[in-house]
Amino acid sequence: MSRLAEPLARLLGTRTANALAKLGLVTVDDLLRHYPRRYADPGQPTDIGSLQLGEHVSVLAHVVHARVASFASRGGARLEAVVTDGQHQLTLTFFGKSAGALRYHEQRLTPGASGVFSGTVGEYRGKRQLTHPDYLMIGAEVEDDETALYEASRPIPMYPATASMQTWKIQRCVRTVLDTLSEDDVPDPVPAAVRDRAHLPGRLDALRLVHRPATSADAHQGRHRLRFEEAFVLQAALAQRRARTAAEDATARPARPGGLLDRFDAALPFTLTDGQVAVGKEVADDLAQARPMQRLLQGEVGSGKTVVALRAMLQVIDAGGQAALLAPTEVLAAQHARTLRAMLGPLAEGGLLGGDADGTRVALLTGSLGAAARKEALLQAASGEAGIVVGTHALLGEHVQFADLGLVVVDEQHRFGVEQRDALRAKGRVSPHLLVMTATPIPRTVAMTVFGDLEVSSLTQIPAGRSGIQTVVVPAGNPRWLERTWQRVREEVDAGHRAYVVCPRIHPDSPGSPEAPTAIAESDDADLVGPGGPGEEGGNAPLRAVLEVAEALRATPALAGLEVDVLHGQLPPAEKDAVMARFAEGTSQVLVSTTVIEVGVDVPEATVMVVYDADRFGLSQLHQLRGRVGRGSAAGLCLLISAAEPATPAAARVEALAETTDGFRLAQLDLELRAEGDVLGAAQSGRTSGLRLLRVVKDADLIEEARRESADVVAADPDLTDHPALADAIAAQLDAGQEEFLERA
Ligand code: ADP
Ligand code: MG
Repeated sequence: MSRLAEPLARLLGTRTANALAKLGLVTVDDLLRHYPRRYADPGQPTDIGSLQLGEHVSVLAHVVHARVASFASRGGARLEAVVTDGQHQLTLTFFGKSAGALRYHEQRLTPGASGVFSGTVGEYRGKRQLTHPDYLMIGAEVEDDETALYEASRPIPMYPATASMQTWKIQRCVRTVLDTLSEDDVPDPVPAAVRDRAHLPGRLDALRLVHRPATSADAHQGRHRLRFEEAFVLQAALAQRRARTAAEDATARPARPGGLLDRFDAALPFTLTDGQVAVGKEVADDLAQARPMQRLLQGEVGSGKTVVALRAMLQVIDAGGQAALLAPTEVLAAQHARTLRAMLGPLAEGGLLGGDADGTRVALLTGSLGAAARKEALLQAASGEAGIVVGTHALLGEHVQFADLGLVVVDEQHRFGVEQRDALRAKGRVSPHLLVMTATPIPRTVAMTVFGDLEVSSLTQIPAGRSGIQTVVVPAGNPRWLERTWQRVREEVDAGHRAYVVCPRIHPDSPGSPEAPTAIAESDDADLVGPGGPGEEGGNAPLRAVLEVAEALRATPALAGLEVDVLHGQLPPAEKDAVMARFAEGTSQVLVSTTVIEVGVDVPEATVMVVYDADRFGLSQLHQLRGRVGRGSAAGLCLLISAAEPATPAAARVEALAETTDGFRLAQLDLELRAEGDVLGAAQSGRTSGLRLLRVVKDADLIEEARRESADVVAADPDLTDHPALADAIAAQLDAGQEEFLERA
């Protein structure tokens, strides 16, 4: 067995091992990865005569006497030792559950023995004392006075601890374990050549620096190296994944002149933006290769990703294949099917009377289809009659078969994992090409960390002819502003436009916190409460609810005579479709909704959006929501009703949104305002992610460097035969929930 896999019980005894197990630390490796949360200042070498209350000090002294006293009444015991520097005396006090628990100290603090004692100066009955000081005995842990003082001047690692396993005990355990290890016991996943280039210490050295630094610069250096390692292992895993996919066969789907794509382009009612053209070319080139495309298309909200995807799908259909489009919700899937059919016109009516002879079909396949419709859609997919099959995760179902699946487009990726991507890819005879689209721009380091196995294309431009969106923060406590808000809505509707009103909850009587988000893609309200969303800052006012707000708006004089509809994830799918259709055609003009409309819903006539409790939503979520308006030629207006106190993160989010519509900037800001765990999702933070020290936001440069270096290593040695420690580290990281880490965002 490797030294790192050794159970702690063997080295530290069962009692200590059991206490450490409560912290989830079972093996040597676990303990070594239990990094200090911070470092306390070392004690200043001080004379006993000049101790100041509250000061953190180290004193060199010898023991006068030590006595253990049991408290008969309460149980427990106290060890009191008096030490002296020859002139003054100082008391050291230790408490324990029993006299036996203090024996360890009692045996070491023998009269006449000297040591260095470090702790914070307190007072008891008028006398200065140190409670539970750290100490090093001369002749035991250290040779002489000088070493003792040096040791005592080191930063003190402070560990995540429990009541029965305090940080100073953990410190001792780590020290004991570290002392028994040699270089050979601690394989280093970062190859020596990479370490040299990046000026990094070896792994064992790094662990020593982190757990037993001589100076705070040491601790810093050690942490930096371990952070690099985390980034390096992760990036190597992603590089391997890229390499493996690149080695897979795919059917080349080159463009066919005169095909559906050309005819679609010729009939396109607008000019493609430069970005759409450029990305379109990247995608077209990828599709023409006999290895699977692995591309992430990230774009500004409203930048026109759908048309890019559709053009890719048409190229594949022209080459004899089919395309699948995966959407995160039924609403969005249905809308995509509608949009694609509308954009394709007669080209989507292949085989139908009046349709185009060479045309194809768009099939919609969702979980809520009736049996007959479902059978029909399945048949169209399996026969190849449908060139495009749109659906939710139901597309991943086992009975769904394709005649020749050539391309998978995943819209709004953040709700799909790679496992799902893989399941769908497995439906082709060979790997289909893959195009993943994100809902909002994501900062580069997140893209590298979370989607690191994909090539990235970006659409930053918004098509010309949009009049932009004005965003205004409406203070929740101001009735005049609120009144004005509804007047503005009325004006927009009178001008032939439509309005969204977004609320964080569905039912007014559901508990203070919004309904729990259900399984991914299962509910249209998944992500209802994004990170930084409701509940975060503990506002006391109840959050506004769709049903209650709709009721109130129907009775609002300014909106008299308008049709107010509601949309939320608990409606039956058919009902959701009907509601969206009514709103799209203008039968209803005001749609009160949860964030179910957050992703991708496209009703160009919608020009105004009112967001209740805007301060309780996440920044990206608000940006995405706001992207639902101002999509036509008329200017958009977004009114954010906020109760955020000035100078809070919530206020900062809302204000940032009012200031800019640049999604890339907002995404970066969002990252900075959010906690790391939120960025990668709960599953990705902490223990299971393997990312203990790495911070996606702060460590951008380091991630870049690790990515470059790991790419070189993997390119030269794809199976990592010459880098077993790296291969093992990747395998360990992929174990136990790790797959998930790479896959979900
Ligand atoms: P998103 O990137 O947010 O998914 P969509 O693909 O839904 O954006 O596109 C938003 C709207 O812009 C759609 O109505 C689409 O038809 C339109 N659109 C796309 N490209 C252009 C363009 N080049 N010029 C004008 N309108 C465009
Ligand atoms: Mg979209």
